[in-house]
Amino acid sequence: MTRTFHGRGVSPGGAAGPAHVIPDLAASSRKAAGRPDELRSLDVAVTTSAAELERLAEGLRADGHEAEAGIMDAQVLMAADPGLLQAARDGIESGLSAQEAVQRAAAHFRAMLEGLDDPYLAARAADVQDVADRLRRHLLGEETLAIERPSILVARDLTPSQTASLDRSLIQGIATGVGSGTSHTAILARALGIPAVVGLGDQVREIADGEELALDGDRGVVILRPTEAEKRAAHAHQAEATAGRARLGAMRDLPAETTDGHRLTLAANIGSPDDLPGALQAGAEGIGLFRTEFLFAGRTEPPTEDEQVAAYSAVLREMSPRTVVIRTLDVGGDKPLPYLPMGTEMNPFLGERGVRYTLAHTDLLRTQLRALLRASRAGKPAIMLPMVSDLGEVAAVREMLDGLQPEVGGEAPLGVMVEIPGTAVLAETFARHVAFLSAGTNDLVQYGLAVDRTNEHVAHLDRPLHPGILRLLEMTAEGAHAHGKWAGVCGEMAGDLLAVPLLVGLGFDELSMTPSRIPAVKGLIRRLSLHGCRKLAEQALVRETAEEVEDLVRDAVSG
Ligand code: PEP
Ligand code: MG
Repeated sequence: MTRTFHGRGVSPGGAAGPAHVIPDLAASSRKAAGRPDELRSLDVAVTTSAAELERLAEGLRADGHEAEAGIMDAQVLMAADPGLLQAARDGIESGLSAQEAVQRAAAHFRAMLEGLDDPYLAARAADVQDVADRLRRHLLGEETLAIERPSILVARDLTPSQTASLDRSLIQGIATGVGSGTSHTAILARALGIPAVVGLGDQVREIADGEELALDGDRGVVILRPTEAEKRAAHAHQAEATAGRARLGAMRDLPAETTDGHRLTLAANIGSPDDLPGALQAGAEGIGLFRTEFLFAGRTEPPTEDEQVAAYSAVLREMSPRTVVIRTLDVGGDKPLPYLPMGTEMNPFLGERGVRYTLAHTDLLRTQLRALLRASRAGKPAIMLPMVSDLGEVAAVREMLDGLQPEVGGEAPLGVMVEIPGTAVLAETFARHVAFLSAGTNDLVQYGLAVDRTNEHVAHLDRPLHPGILRLLEMTAEGAHAHGKWAGVCGEMAGDLLAVPLLVGLGFDELSMTPSRIPAVKGLIRRLSLHGCRKLAEQALVRETAEEVEDLVRDAVSG
């Protein structure tokens, strides 16, 4: 009888085929031999595991999966980590079998990392367990899971090294009991283009090895014993997903270059390190806006300096040598934080928001700047200030940075977001004092046209192509260039196909957007000429209404 299980689709596409069920390692164990034997077995398992992980890293690197190879590199270090090994040896000395001792040591380290209440360190906790499982498999004399025919992997949990150990050409889909959209399984599955459903809970226990399955990685559905029609639909789904990926992949490595040879940087906006795989997959050439609010949200107190260092370093390392523009905390307005003192304001969007708030609560800002400087060694960061309206704000932040620098070390260029009309008009002045300008058009439109971005009654007036906004953007790009600085756009407008020809024509150097928009924007830029875009922008700047500009661009792009 057909059964349908619901989990979370974390890697798109469809698959149909027999289940390859991976037994739960937690169920297997063996008795301890003598202490010297156990210690020797542990040493052998460590050497074998480290060598195996190195090979996996090499293989992944050769296939161009740099991020996954990095995970394996980290695991090589963990497998030989003196702290972990000493804890395991102590366990053996106290009479445990080597595999029990490894499990206990790993559990201790895992709990320690998870207790830090930090998503990155929690992810490292999963790596510790992965390494421990690999060691235990060797200690139990188990072969790494062999897979002999095209199958859908089914497991309670699947570790990255298990996924990497398997013949990927035979893995058609992945279904696991645990996991989330940001788990290693999900990240690797996406990177490898394997459809995956995680979070199926105990339902996975109902699937026996060899049973037929159909899986939908978009909807998060796994069908046990599917009908022929369901299998055919899964295959068709996968063919469609593969074709889509090929189109995206073909675009990924091409430059965002106009037909007359003008090149732009297409960067990604991210709200957390979990967005990085998508950004890289889409071909992001950097991060043009890393919103740091996520670190401060969903908790009862601000993140510590160390927690912030870990988060920023993770992103910088992953993106290195590409630039990551990290924005200082942008609270206030529509982004309150329950644990931060915030007075009731009549007009919160015009109130203590962004850099105004952090300059009024310098402990918060100092901690963040210290963390940014400390993390700066991990890659190529830039610091960006939100909601800047006055040069004094830039000077105050710079003074704080200069004060911290001798003590903390590290460095990062400082830039400002152009979100306020007065700042856009004075762009040339600001550009003299900072390293770059980035137009936050979501707010620039809000403040430029006096349209509350959260009020649906005035949503029809929220028109980024309004000639008034275009003139502010023109001043922004020209102001930056007057001092040899770069100018970017990091609001939603950067990913809007109607706005892109104008932003190119106005001279912006970088467009930073939601990762999924990158391929389409790149495709468009590659069909445009800088010459044509400049002419279009000139015409748009003298149109009278947003509607006229929209019609102008529509005609130009379709004609
Ligand atoms: C903007 O205002 O355009 C921007 C990118 O910042 P946010 O949307 O986070 O306010
Ligand atoms: Mg903004």
